[in-house]
Amino acid sequence: MSILVTGGAGYIGSHTVLELQNAGYDVVVADNLSNSSRTSLERVRDITGKEITFYEADILDRDALRNIFAKEKITACIHFAGLKSVGESVAKPLEYYQNNIAGTLVLVDEMKRQGIKNIIFSSSATIYGDPAFVPITEECPKGICTNPYGWTKSMLEQILIDMQTADPEWNVIILRYFNPVGAHESGMIGEDPNGLPNNLMPFISQVAVGKLPELSVFGDDYDTPDGTGVRDYIHVVDLADGHVKALKKVSENVGLKIYNLGTGTGYSVLEMVKNFESVTGVKVPYAIKARRPGDIAACYANADKAKAELSWEAKFGIKEMCADAWNWQSKNPNGYGS
Ligand code: NAD
Ligand code: UDP
Repeated sequence: MSILVTGGAGYIGSHTVLELQNAGYDVVVADNLSNSSRTSLERVRDITGKEITFYEADILDRDALRNIFAKEKITACIHFAGLKSVGESVAKPLEYYQNNIAGTLVLVDEMKRQGIKNIIFSSSATIYGDPAFVPITEECPKGICTNPYGWTKSMLEQILIDMQTADPEWNVIILRYFNPVGAHESGMIGEDPNGLPNNLMPFISQVAVGKLPELSVFGDDYDTPDGTGVRDYIHVVDLADGHVKALKKVSENVGLKIYNLGTGTGYSVLEMVKNFESVTGVKVPYAIKARRPGDIAACYANADKAKAELSWEAKFGIKEMCADAWNWQSKNPNGYGS
C-alpha cells in the first residue's frame, strides 16, 4: 500500500515525502520535473535511508497515470503537482489553467477509474483574496483572486467540492497553505526557485548569500504596524507534518474537509528582515519600493480547526524558519545546481 505524491520532487512535496517516510508510509512520486530535479528525492532518500519509487510523469498524461496505478497499490493521493508562479501565470494564463486544472481533472478521473477516492489537495490562502477579516478562519468567504494562479486554486477547490458532493465515496481534504518557508534542518533539501525569486524568504536568503544586491520592500504605507505587508509564515516541515496528519484523517471516510495550515501569527516584511539578521548574523540590505500590484496588507490564519480536528499545530517559530532557510541557502548557494 502506497501513497501517490504528485509534484513530490518539488519544495513542499520533497519535505512531505520525507515526513511520510518517517511516519512509515511507502511513497510513490509522480513529477514531470518541470520545476524540480531528481536530486531532491535522492537527498530525501539519503536522509531517511528509504527508497522512493519515482515516475517521471505528467499528470496530464493519462497513459502514464494508468501505468502507475497498474504497477503500484495506491490508497490515497497527495496532490502537489502544479505551476505556482503568480507573475508567470499573468503572462501565461492558458498554460496555468491547462496544467493545473486540466491536469487535476485527468488525475481525479484516473483515480476514480481505479476506485481510489482519497485525495489531499494543495490550496492556498490566496483563495481568500483580500480577506474579509483576519485572522482568517475557513468560514471566511472566498475572495477575488488577483491572478490566474490564484484562480486555478479557487476553481480547483470548487471542482473537488462538486465532485465529492456528486459522489460521497470521495474523501477530499483541501489544505489552504499560508506562506511556506524554511527547509529541513539537515540543509540538504530546500526551496530552489527558478531565476529571480518572487517570494520574500528566498529573496532575503539570496541577498544574504550575496547572489542579489538588496531586497526591495514592496510598500511601507499599508495599514499595518510598520506599514509593510504582514503574512503568516509557516515552516515547511510543519506544513509537511500537516499532510501526514491529513492523510490519517482522509482514510477515516471524512467526506469533505477544509483546513487552514498556518501558525496564526503574522510578521511584517521588516520583522522578517530583522529576525533573519539576528538569527544568522548576516546583514540584509533593503530599499523601500512601490507596492507590488495585487498585494494585500495582511493575511494570517486562524488555524484552530486543524488543531481540533487533525491534532496538528505548527511547532516551529520564526527563528527556526530563518535559521533553516539560511542553513539550506548557505550550504547550497545555487540550490540543487550546486
Ligand atoms: P514546486 O514547484 O516546488 O512543486 C511543484 C511540483 O509539481 C514540481 O516538482 C513540478 O515539477 C511538478 N509539476 C508541475 N506540473 C506538473 C505536471 N503537469 N505533472 C507532474 N508534475 C508537475 O512548488 P511547491 O512550492 O512545492 O508547491 C506545491 C504545491 O503547493 C503547488 O500546487 C502550489 O501551488 C501549492 N502552494 C504552494 C505555496 C508556496 O508558497 N510554495 C503556497 C500555497 C500553495
Ligand atoms: N515582498 C517584498 N519583497 C520581495 C518579495 C515579497 O517586500 O521581494 C513582500 C510582499 O509584498 C508581501 C510579503 O513580502 O507583503 C510576502 O510576499 P510573498 O510573495 O512571499 O508572499 P505572498 O504575497 O504571496 O503572500
